[in-house]
Amino acid sequence: MDQLASILEGYVEQKRQKLTALSEEIWRYAEVGYQEFQSAAALERCLEEEGFSVEKGVAGIPTAFVARYGQGKPVIGFLGEFDALFDLSQQAGNWQRASFENGNAGHGCGHNQLGVGSLAAAMAVKEYMKDHGLAGTVAYFGCPAEEDGSGKMYMAKAGVFDELDGAFTWHPSSKNAVDGSSSLACICVLYRFHGRATHAAGQPHLGRSALDACELMNVGVNYLREHMIQEARVHYAYRDAGGGAPNVVQDHAALYYFIRAPKVSQAMELRERVDNCARGAALMTGTTLEITTTDGLCDFIPNQTLSALLQRGMEEIGAPRFSQADQALAARFQEGYPAEELKAKNESYEKEYGPQIAAQLAGKALMDIILPLKFDPAASPGSTDVGDVSYVCPTVQLNMATYAIGTPGHSWQLTAQGGCSIGHEGMLAAAKVLAYAGVRAMEDPKVLEQAKEEYQKATGGKYICPVPLDLEPMLDGVK
Ligand SMILES: [Zn+2]
Repeated sequence: MDQLASILEGYVEQKRQKLTALSEEIWRYAEVGYQEFQSAAALERCLEEEGFSVEKGVAGIPTAFVARYGQGKPVIGFLGEFDALFDLSQQAGNWQRASFENGNAGHGCGHNQLGVGSLAAAMAVKEYMKDHGLAGTVAYFGCPAEEDGSGKMYMAKAGVFDELDGAFTWHPSSKNAVDGSSSLACICVLYRFHGRATHAAGQPHLGRSALDACELMNVGVNYLREHMIQEARVHYAYRDAGGGAPNVVQDHAALYYFIRAPKVSQAMELRERVDNCARGAALMTGTTLEITTTDGLCDFIPNQTLSALLQRGMEEIGAPRFSQADQALAARFQEGYPAEELKAKNESYEKEYGPQIAAQLAGKALMDIILPLKFDPAASPGSTDVGDVSYVCPTVQLNMATYAIGTPGHSWQLTAQGGCSIGHEGMLAAAKVLAYAGVRAMEDPKVLEQAKEEYQKATGGKYICPVPLDLEPMLDGVK
């Protein structure tokens, strides 16, 4: 561990109790997107105690906020999330299904740790600035509704990230690795058809079926698949099938589409073609059509220059220091996962990182090594609103182990592990690494310049908003 790593380690360890208690507090609130009032307030309170000035309710979103310390350039930002997921409540540390206090929502993606880990990084950088006279500004961005609501897209659209020279974040994971792969851009669109109801046997010729329009639209899109790029992903669900009576011609029906592609510009183009399938279906059926964009987000572009700083930080700080008890508890969780899934996981490590690393990991429930830095040109098939930040400034993220290998994403098992010491260790390790990269970036203007050049080349230096500019976030969650 170099000198900077041990200084930052000290700052974070000094506040260990406060930070883990805050993570547990947000874990207990388990508030879903745009409803994170108690969680945001707890984070804001902690940042104020730590000497940050907090701007609340940014971008017109009550639970979005920015906290800053210092002044002038460079400006380094840490992104925090804190929203939970419906139906994933679970007792902390319990490997058998048992809901927590009759709860409903739970932190099945670990965003309680994500929010507090990034806060701890901002706090450690602030301490370093104070003690070592490092100039500039460190900011923490409270980003609501990552799971369903694209909080960061609305914040990017409002210019909230414009001040940044670099953005750093992380995600709870089963592995310790810098995130070197991009993610898919995604646009979410509701297609509502309106027709004319009649007796389906008596006067069918007078009816105009909105349900027929939905079916024809889907047929059109499914034929379109042959002529779209391989990496695109288009999926749909019926939001309204027009009612349950076969003898009534359905005068209303609606489809909800997610349209994904490796680049936001590609997703926007493809969306036009999907819109045309809907228009064609309306024309064929004599119905009218209402198209509403509900949401959207950009692809994530990992900045390689700043990723190298994260990797250095990971190697200096090291993997989370899990105790024997943590390893034993994680192994209990693994007992509930399908054996073939665990085998496939190990094989995927072997394929990606070679037999040596696979051998090191064999039989281990929690990852205790740092994986080598890898940039994958192919986008991983999910989507995240961190992508929108990566179109505003150089952006990077890392993964740190906070749960057992083989734990499914968005699961109650993940909720359980994020509320106990397994999650705490990963969170504190992530905080130290993020702080390390943040300080290294702030003290070397050349690194930030190089990161910016790379960002300009990748994006043209311009934020491409995937949704209409006047679209407002759906704060009540109804789409
Ligand atoms: Zn997540």
